[in-house]
Amino acid sequence: MHTNADKKTTATPPVHRELDVETIRADFPILNERVNGHPLVYLDSAASSQKPRSVINALLEYYRRDNANIHRGLHTLAERATGAYEHTRTHIAKFINADEPEEIVLTRGTTEAINLLAYTWGEQNIGEGDEIVVTEMEHHANFVPWYQLAQRKGAIIRRIPITVCGHLDLSDIDTIINSRTKLVTVVHMSNVLGTINPIAEIAAKAKKHGAIVVSDGAQAAPAMPIDVKDLGVDFYAFSSHKMLGPTGVGVLYGKRHLLEAMPPFNFGGEMIQEVRFDKVTWAELPHKFEAGTPNIADVVAFDAALHYLEDLGMENIHRYERDLTAYAIERLSELPGLEIQGPRETEQRGAAVSFTDPDIHPHDISTFLDSHGIAIRAGHHCAQPLMRVLGKVATARASFYVYNDRSEVDTLVEALKDMRKYFCL
Ligand code: PMP
Repeated sequence: MHTNADKKTTATPPVHRELDVETIRADFPILNERVNGHPLVYLDSAASSQKPRSVINALLEYYRRDNANIHRGLHTLAERATGAYEHTRTHIAKFINADEPEEIVLTRGTTEAINLLAYTWGEQNIGEGDEIVVTEMEHHANFVPWYQLAQRKGAIIRRIPITVCGHLDLSDIDTIINSRTKLVTVVHMSNVLGTINPIAEIAAKAKKHGAIVVSDGAQAAPAMPIDVKDLGVDFYAFSSHKMLGPTGVGVLYGKRHLLEAMPPFNFGGEMIQEVRFDKVTWAELPHKFEAGTPNIADVVAFDAALHYLEDLGMENIHRYERDLTAYAIERLSELPGLEIQGPRETEQRGAAVSFTDPDIHPHDISTFLDSHGIAIRAGHHCAQPLMRVLGKVATARASFYVYNDRSEVDTLVEALKDMRKYFCL
C-alpha cells in the first residue's frame, strides 16, 4: 500500500477496493507490541486510534527540518512551517467538502471546537426561553457546553429520545424542533451505540425553523466519507487523534457567513488585525479564532493521516468496518447473557460495539481482557445521560478500525468465554 507523508496533492480515492489489512497492519509499529505476554489486540480506536509510520515520520521530519513559529516570520523555516500548517487546513477543507480553507478553524479537539462554538455563536445568539435541541446519545463534549450555555442564558434544552433499538426516535421531531428552536446539535455517530444518525434529515427539519445545525463528527469523520454540504450542517466538529492523526488537533468547520458574524473565542497574538490602546480589530478568518501559537507539528502531521485515509478510500473503510462490525456482533451474540447495545443492522451503525455481561462489571471485563493483551474501554464513555436511559452504570466497548481483522474479534470472543470460566460462571 502506498502512503507518503510528503505528498502534497490529494489522491483520487480508490473506490470499491478491499482493504489489505495485513499490509495496513505493517504500517502501524505499535501493533507489534506485546501486552502482558500476549500480542496486542487493540480494540479501543473509538477512544483514540493508532498512528501509521507516515504520521510518526511526518512529526519527526517537521521537527528535524521545518520547525519554526508560523504566520509571523519572514525567514525560510517560518515560511516552510506556515506553508505546511496551512496546507493541512486546505486538505481538511477538501476532505469534508467545505467551500474554502477559511471555513476550517483548527482547535485542540472536538471538545474545544464545541466549546468555541458555545462561547462565541452561543453567547451571541442564545437568549432566555430559546430552545437548544440535543439527543439522548450525546457525548458530554456535545452536551455540557450547551447545558452550561443554557444555564447562563435561561435557555431550554430539549432532547430527541432514542428507541429501544438505539436509533433516534424521530416520531415527535416536529414538536421537539419548533419556532423557539435556535440550535439543533446531533452526534453523527454515537461513541456508545455506534448508531449513525440521519443528520441531513434532522438538518432539514431545523432549517424550516431557521435553526442552526451542529454535528459532532468525532466518531463519524474517521469512519466514512464526510460531505458537510450533503449533511446540511452549519458547523461540524472532529478530532485528528481518532482518525490516525496526532492528539491535540481538532477541527471546527463553520459556514463562512456564520464564522464571520461570530466574536473571537480567545484573545491575544495572531487573532488581531490591529491593536491600539483604545481600539482592537480582529484578524480575517480563520485566524480570528486561533489566538497564540497553535499546535503546529501535530497539525502538519495530520496531513499525513488524511493522505493515509484517502489512499484507503473512506468508502472502502466504511464498508470494511460494516463487515467487521457485523461479524463482531454475530460472534458476541454467541455468548450467553451478553447484552449488545445499539442497532443490530450494520447499515446504520459504525464500529463501536458496547456490551454488558449480566454477572461481570465492565471494569472487570476490561481488566481481564487486558491480562490477555486485549485493549477495550469500560465505563460511561462520557455519556452519562445515555447510560441513564439505557439503565446501565457502564458498558464495555470494543471498537474497530482499519487495522483490525476477524481473527482479533475471535480472540476477543474466546477471551470473554475464558472470563466466564475464570469467574466460575
Ligand atoms: N464526541 C464524541 C462522539 C466522542 O467520541 C469524543 C471522544 N471520545 C468526543 C466528542 C470528544 O473528543 P475529544 O476528546 O477529542 O475532544
